[in-house]
Amino acid sequence: MAEVRKIKNFINGEWVESKTTKYEDVYNPATGEVIAQVPLSTKEDIDYAAEVAAEAFKKWRNVPVQKRARILFNFQQLLQQNKDELARLITIENGKNTTEALGEVGRGIENVEFAAGAPALMMGDSLTNIATDVEATNYRYPIGVVGGITPFNFPMMVPCWMFPMAIAVGNTFVLKPSERTPLLTEKLADLLTEAGLPKGVFNVVNGAHDVVNGILDHPEVKAISFVGSKPVGEYVYKRGSQNLKRVQALTGAKNHSIVLNDADLDLATTNVIASAFGSAGERCMACSVVTVEEGVADEFLDLLVKRSKEVKIGNGLDEGVFLGPVIREENKTRTLGYIQKGIEEGAKLVCDGRELGAPEEGYFVGPTIFDGVTTDMSIWKDEIFAPVLSIIRVKNLKEAVETANESEFANGACIYTSNASSIRYFRENIDAGMLGVNLGVPAPMAFFPFSGWKSSFFGTLPANGKDSVEFYTRKKVVTANYKAPSFE
Ligand code: NAD
Repeated sequence: MAEVRKIKNFINGEWVESKTTKYEDVYNPATGEVIAQVPLSTKEDIDYAAEVAAEAFKKWRNVPVQKRARILFNFQQLLQQNKDELARLITIENGKNTTEALGEVGRGIENVEFAAGAPALMMGDSLTNIATDVEATNYRYPIGVVGGITPFNFPMMVPCWMFPMAIAVGNTFVLKPSERTPLLTEKLADLLTEAGLPKGVFNVVNGAHDVVNGILDHPEVKAISFVGSKPVGEYVYKRGSQNLKRVQALTGAKNHSIVLNDADLDLATTNVIASAFGSAGERCMACSVVTVEEGVADEFLDLLVKRSKEVKIGNGLDEGVFLGPVIREENKTRTLGYIQKGIEEGAKLVCDGRELGAPEEGYFVGPTIFDGVTTDMSIWKDEIFAPVLSIIRVKNLKEAVETANESEFANGACIYTSNASSIRYFRENIDAGMLGVNLGVPAPMAFFPFSGWKSSFFGTLPANGKDSVEFYTRKKVVTANYKAPSFE
């Protein structure tokens, strides 16, 4: 058997071997095959990357903003040219199907396009005559080295929420991608080099918690963007803040969709299936609970179960496959554990994903639906992050909203209805940062803020949109007294 390739770190514009002796296998989750080995890098590796990035910052911050933007324009072109290969890498290491992977590449490119607007986005403001002959001007500056820590479920899009804007406004960056999906990042680093990015501006240190701790503790790292699960996000937020860094941590979710009696059930079914089972339910915006009004509950559920049983499960590279694998064997085991728990807790299993003909090899779980779920059940409370959907039947919209608001999470929420008053009631009363009306995955585009409420987000400034410019910059306000010239 051929030796498995060992991944390197990308520091100071070069691929360098980690100082570690520990490596972890990277799998293709659709086949169970080991496709590479990722280093569990050391404190020494992350210290080196942070110092290189701090040194590079001294020059990069002074590169004119339009020149920095032009490098991002080049990068955008290269991403477009390489989009099929990028999507293929995503499918191989993450498992989502080719269409979804191409969608993810598109969302990443959107972030690069938005960040290329840095000259306009970085502009400050000024006010003349705040007192006689006195005026004030607000300038924006980068903050230094930014650390990015990312999850496995969007190996391209989530890093692109971070580094394009961070570097466009003059920071340098150290990325620690998920150790479960490190391949896509290699390609990003190579394309950034090809686009003309100077050495040391973008660095990658692969690994797990030791690298995260290294980022959290290094004095040169001034800001941290984290996306991942709630327990890790809470830890990152607390330790980073304690070390006096800016931290934004986008975390876990349990997203509710509300289906009212006046909903277009065909549309609701299509969108709920796409949202709950697309990307194997491994989306922070996946629908994991449907709260349905009693009047249409039976009809909706019949349609949902019938169509869920028809989805094609398999390797995401194969034509027509909708549902790929979950990321690892342990995630499959955990999911099967939740299915068993749901049965024991008294929910009714109306679509059993264990019996829908998933391939033997790889880590597959078919679409799974529980009816009669209540809010004291663990399948309702916990983020399962797999294709498992809970159904709750309610009297009306008010009860649906109150039920959803019992969750500790508040990332996204959707409503299916044709009534404007219901939409407004939902918007005003639901706890969630990202809402959808008659659609399944209300992930805001790059120019809008992205973050949840409650346990789905720790920090002040969300990712993306103008908030990301705020997060990655600091300000100086100059108040100047221009004594009026004398013409006597
Ligand atoms: P994860 O929390 O396991 O890992 C995220 C990152 O943290 C990885 O880089 C990982 O190496 C690191 N990490 C893991 N355990 C750690 C520890 N003990 N100490 C320090 N670092 C650690 O998350 P995941 O499984 O890769 O991704 C799925 C999670 O991400 C889900 O909870 C999902 O909801 C969330 N997510 C949220 C958003 C959002 O916008 N809110 C977007 C995508 C994913």
